[in-house]
Amino acid sequence: MTATVQSSKAVDGLSKDRSKRAGFETPADKPPQRLFVPGPTDVHPATLAAQDMPMIGHRSDELESLFGKCSEQLQALYHTEARVFTVAASGSGLQEAAIRNGVGGRVINFVNGAFSQRWHDVSAGCDKEAVAVAVPWCTAVKPARVEEALEQALAGGPVDAITVVHNETSTGVASPLEEIAETVRRTSPDTLILVDAVSSFSGVKLPFDAWGLDLLLTSSQKALAVPPGLAFAAVSDRLMERAATLSDRGWYFDFLQLDKYRQRSTTPATPAISLLRALSVQLDRIFAEGLEARYARHAHCGQMSRAWAVDNGFGLMAEPGYESDTVTTVENSRGLDISGLNGFLGRREMQIANGYGPYRGKAFRIGHMGEVWPSDLERLFSAIEAFAAGEQR
Ligand SMILES: *Cc1c(COP(=O)(O)O)cnc(C)c1O
Repeated sequence: MTATVQSSKAVDGLSKDRSKRAGFETPADKPPQRLFVPGPTDVHPATLAAQDMPMIGHRSDELESLFGKCSEQLQALYHTEARVFTVAASGSGLQEAAIRNGVGGRVINFVNGAFSQRWHDVSAGCDKEAVAVAVPWCTAVKPARVEEALEQALAGGPVDAITVVHNETSTGVASPLEEIAETVRRTSPDTLILVDAVSSFSGVKLPFDAWGLDLLLTSSQKALAVPPGLAFAAVSDRLMERAATLSDRGWYFDFLQLDKYRQRSTTPATPAISLLRALSVQLDRIFAEGLEARYARHAHCGQMSRAWAVDNGFGLMAEPGYESDTVTTVENSRGLDISGLNGFLGRREMQIANGYGPYRGKAFRIGHMGEVWPSDLERLFSAIEAFAAGEQR
């Protein structure tokens, strides 16, 4: 992990002149970003304000029309014709739902960071036959590793599902999901492909149908920039057929029951009404920006962050070529006091994240998802440079 990260993805195509913003002009109504942690992210004032409304009955026409509208927009965001479930939970809840509805016997969990480790713990906690395949942290899950692990496991009987985290927030690594899905389909057509895209969904294009995924889950509080408390999953017919054969799906996250209610644009239990209103406003904002423009903005912010780190004598922790476009993990090559840096940033109403777990003090993470624009990163980078140059206050 040195600063020799001149991978094509790291620095190509980005002018070193940071004043050139490639057309990403900051919207006039956007307040300066405060949170550069990889979730929860800052929520736009219009989205926040949508929550400040009187309650409505949850069996009302008004609720059904709100829920139905959001469901249709979510399908467009998932690039899918399949069902999208919206539940009152954080994303981890749907990690559990995916296992309970998709796995009867064996599941292979690819573990290359803290959140993929959590999914393995969830699988074991649901009393499934959970096989962890360890992939070194800061590297991506590769199709060849997936093929090898699957073939080895298949020798001992069927594998119900694999789990993979698209964007490991703990390390800033994005795994090649399209190739992984293609490999699973080819190697074991009956194995379901369960994906956690909590920190990349809506910042990076993840076409659910085109890639033949079976479940893609995310949380409201990361790239979607909605307050925490909602989670979403697109779910394939194949997974629904599997769920129908399992008897221990539980109740709150039973996909068959959720689907029955979803078809009437509602939920089995009381929905998080205020959060749905915020979601509705935020989805309108996302489509007003345009999906392709939104993906391009995140890609640009990723490029900017990597180029800034390398230009300023830092390294990048992520395996070259697999760097995330929503969170950059910067190697602390200059030995900055990261708590001191966060104190300095705090006085300027900004915050970054320390390195995760074993990388605490050795790395820091810059989230650039949701409402982060290039001008926000410029402000952040100037402040980090001032701190690194010895400025104290
Ligand atoms: C944040 C995160 C989670 C956990 O999501 P919660 O909404 O906090 O439950 C899971 N996976 C990834 C990749 C994350 O970034």
